[in-house]
Amino acid sequence: PVYLDFNATTPVHPEVLELMIHVYRSQFGNASSRTHIYGQEAKRIVDESRAKIANLLGISPTEVVFTSGATESNNLAILGLEDYGRKQRKLHIISTNIEHNSILEPLKVLSRRGFDIELCPVDSAGLIDAEDLLRRVRTDTLLVTVMHANNETGVLQPVDVIGTRLKEMGVLFHVDASQTFGKLSKEILSLDYDLMSITAHKVYGPQGIGALILRHRNYVRPPLTPLLHGGGQENGLRPGTLPVALIAGFGKAAELAQLHGEKWLRQEARIKQDVLDQLRVIKHVINGDQTHCLPNCVNVSFPGIDSEALMLATRTEIAISNGSACTSSKYRPSHVLEAMGALAESAVRLSWGPQIDSVDLEPIITFVRQMTQL
Ligand code: PLP
Repeated sequence: PVYLDFNATTPVHPEVLELMIHVYRSQFGNASSRTHIYGQEAKRIVDESRAKIANLLGISPTEVVFTSGATESNNLAILGLEDYGRKQRKLHIISTNIEHNSILEPLKVLSRRGFDIELCPVDSAGLIDAEDLLRRVRTDTLLVTVMHANNETGVLQPVDVIGTRLKEMGVLFHVDASQTFGKLSKEILSLDYDLMSITAHKVYGPQGIGALILRHRNYVRPPLTPLLHGGGQENGLRPGTLPVALIAGFGKAAELAQLHGEKWLRQEARIKQDVLDQLRVIKHVINGDQTHCLPNCVNVSFPGIDSEALMLATRTEIAISNGSACTSSKYRPSHVLEAMGALAESAVRLSWGPQIDSVDLEPIITFVRQMTQL
């Protein structure tokens, strides 16, 4: 089947893979071993990759903390602020009800530990209202955390406006940029934020590596407490031997995104237009505001159709998903689509990338036609 589930994960770019194989073969040192060339070479690779990622984000390499991916970064950003929040007597956190579970679950943990968690609703187009969110800020607000692009709908949240205003207010702002890192690089460059989660495997890098970006604002880093305890790697914030090959792949993915990102976006937008055109022949509802949306995905409901049946019937031809990959093993209608009041049980997500030249929706169209003519 044709792979159309790029928002879940992307194929590793051949240049990323080539570099990683080289590192695994010949540069297997521990980046913390300072006494010999193996360790020094590994450290050089880590430093180079950190610089490439920092360069793409327009930040200092010292602001990059490597983690195992955005799930860990989100957990570190939220749970890592617990001690500071208590010391400052700031126990209020604002987020949204369409975040990824790796935000919502740590927030639930803090809620059980006495924090006051407020989740902003979205409108039927999947957008949060920046003013509504900002009105909720209080003197005891510790953190605001909002995703940049939603993984299920691709809808872009107004993190630019929110970031600017929170900076003026002096409230910590975390952005989950898992779906926009390496894609909307220009937008990310102009954002104001304190913490940002990124991951390699949504932009042709390997799975199992990501980073938490910690900006130094007024020369002060967000005051995080580490979740893991061990050696002093990553300034003590994330101890553990650095996975040098994964980091090399992450750096290469960032470099490729910097070189080709604009071109990729144009190609993805062309495919989106073609997908929307093809859908015209059957009854459908597009979920999510298309004027503030990633160009590499579309979330669509087919009224009267069960998405599970659709995916089953078309699975030998196209690989798509409903909900997000992380929750589809225990299938429940998507919390994102439910928050929007969309037809969650009839919805599928198609997502693609620059490796895809065209998308043929014929299997979907045939199934929907058959089912609606019964
Ligand atoms: N946040 C969002 C918005 C995502 O789409 C994902 C994807 O899985 C994650 C977080 C988790 O990222 P990772 O798989 O790197 O842990």
